[in-house]
Amino acid sequence: MRKKIVAGNWKMNNDSAQTEALISELLSKKPEHSVAKIVIAPSFVNLQAAVQQTHGTSIIVAAQNMHQAESGAYTGETSVGMLKGIKVNTVILGHSERRAYFGETNALLAEKVNTALSHNLTIIFCFGEELADRQGGNHFNVVESQLREGLFHISRENWSSVVLAYEPVWAIGTGETASPEQAQEMHAFIRNLIRNEIGAGVADATSILYGGSVKPDNAREIFSKPDVDGGLIGGASLKAGDFLEIVNGMQ
Ligand code: PEP
Repeated sequence: MRKKIVAGNWKMNNDSAQTEALISELLSKKPEHSVAKIVIAPSFVNLQAAVQQTHGTSIIVAAQNMHQAESGAYTGETSVGMLKGIKVNTVILGHSERRAYFGETNALLAEKVNTALSHNLTIIFCFGEELADRQGGNHFNVVESQLREGLFHISRENWSSVVLAYEPVWAIGTGETASPEQAQEMHAFIRNLIRNEIGAGVADATSILYGGSVKPDNAREIFSKPDVDGGLIGGASLKAGDFLEIVNGMQ
């Protein structure tokens, strides 16, 4: 069964006091039972406190990244064991900002995927085309290569630990959203690709989130599309009210 998920990627925003305040507001205002599972991804330094603050609630805390190596001389990096040690069991991998500003390639992401899966983490695997790819009609090819090179090597069993997040780069933080039809078209393409390459069972069980300028006023329509299972939200996840309105847009 596909899970419905709304995840907030807080990026490099919110110090510890702001993180605590935002989580408090989310906890006090969130509906007792939302259709969508709620995930939040604070910065590394605030993860442990976020896990403690959300303990016993339905909110899941995720990391925004991790290193592919188990440990070693990688100054400034964070390992999978460090995440597991503070009970963070979900990680976002392949965000377009990591790909663009930190040189993360599909091959590197394949390594990160392997490390995360070997420690039983759930992965929110991000991918999506740039504006020039879409304008040149190349968006399906780009997305297919990102998935084939970064993810499709995993075993069928491991797919139950994977959530996909289609995020067209031209829609991230720009206010420019893919239309609900564009999102549905790509999500259907991805599900079909998984059906043909991996199998119908996996295709029907894998959640595919949409990300890119999702806001309270467009979430409901995007989420109403049959192959959209939720959203990965950047800017609008920094305000509890907006984020929860988006969560409530998932019916
Ligand atoms: C994101 O960074 O994953 C994202 C979707 O950002 P925004 O919602 O701000 O476009």
